[in-house]
Amino acid sequence: MVRVTLDSITKRFGDFEALKRVSLEISDKEFMALLGPSGSGKSTLLYTIAGIYRPTSGRIYFDGRDVTDVPPKDRNVGLVFQNWALYPHMKVFDNIAFPLELRKAPKDEIARKVREVAEMLRIENLLDRYPWQLSGGQQQRVAIARALVKEPDVLLLDEPLSNLDALLRLEVRAELKRLQKELGITAVYVTHDQAEALAMADRIAVIKEGVILQVGTPDDVYYRPKYRFVGGFLGSPPMNFVEAEIEGPYLNVYGSVIPVPAQYRETVERLGVTEVILGFRPHDAEVVKGKAEGLAGTVYSFEPLGREQIVTVSVNGAFVKVFAPEGEHFSFGEPVTVKLREDRIVLFDKKSEKALE
Ligand code: ATP
Repeated sequence: MVRVTLDSITKRFGDFEALKRVSLEISDKEFMALLGPSGSGKSTLLYTIAGIYRPTSGRIYFDGRDVTDVPPKDRNVGLVFQNWALYPHMKVFDNIAFPLELRKAPKDEIARKVREVAEMLRIENLLDRYPWQLSGGQQQRVAIARALVKEPDVLLLDEPLSNLDALLRLEVRAELKRLQKELGITAVYVTHDQAEALAMADRIAVIKEGVILQVGTPDDVYYRPKYRFVGGFLGSPPMNFVEAEIEGPYLNVYGSVIPVPAQYRETVERLGVTEVILGFRPHDAEVVKGKAEGLAGTVYSFEPLGREQIVTVSVNGAFVKVFAPEGEHFSFGEPVTVKLREDRIVLFDKKSEKALE
């Protein structure tokens, strides 16, 4: 297996810079998600690792070996795309066997390896079928089997689940995660779906406009976003943001005054900032009726979700979303207070939108 090192990768298409000095280290056996909105450069980065794109500048290393000029076929990477692109005129067996045929592997070895990988993906009973005789989820498994059969050093996946329906996506997601760990294979997984990244990855690299804003464990990027963008991109609903002014040891949020969170007191004093953005997750607050310490507001809306409900509160015109237990009754316009869990508050500089540290 293999460690992948990206050293200051820039990729230009004409005048357009799709990747801007991207550096990233992906450990052996790690599952790394590249997460970002459409057009942020995720696929470009993946194809650069695969060798399909050559970086304009920067180097790529596999286990310390410079592979920047090594063509894709000599990198031993397995690729799985969004549209699975199985060969329609070939049966499943031949589709999976194809990379080994290209290598001119002996027939009996091909048969053994195809069967092994098919069993692993639970498609051994489909080997005689053509792709059009398969469901989407089965086709997807065949595509993964084809990528795995040559025992790649690195498995590269570009939104492999996005053509599946929601239920199937959840199922294949769990399987893929398990398979990656069982095989102990280094995997890089491109997605714009934050839930997918949180659920599957060991670490997530959050990309925006060709720049990696943050790399960290799901917990890191979820609870300790380094940028407002990261907090706002992860979570459903995402992190809430309200503007606040620092007044000595207090934060003034549209007229509601709360203490500066303990974890920020020293930082706020040292930096001497006065205008911040206060971020908190919908699960890290509660809505209480009437007046209390917290953000004073009124109920704008509420949406039951079964086990809990999302309450939207207008805090002097700024809307925040908070989870509340099922069964609690709210009415439109009712005065409430949003009480924040202090240790989970994140403060961002208002101008740079970077978390204070
Ligand atoms: P998506 O989720 O929509 O696939 P992405 O994050 O994977 O988005 P990329 O496909 O990497 O984004 O594209 C990044 C940017 O580079 C986009 O603005 C895209 O238009 C541009 N781009 C990608 N490939 C090319 C190309 N071959 N020629 C010119 N521009 C390109």
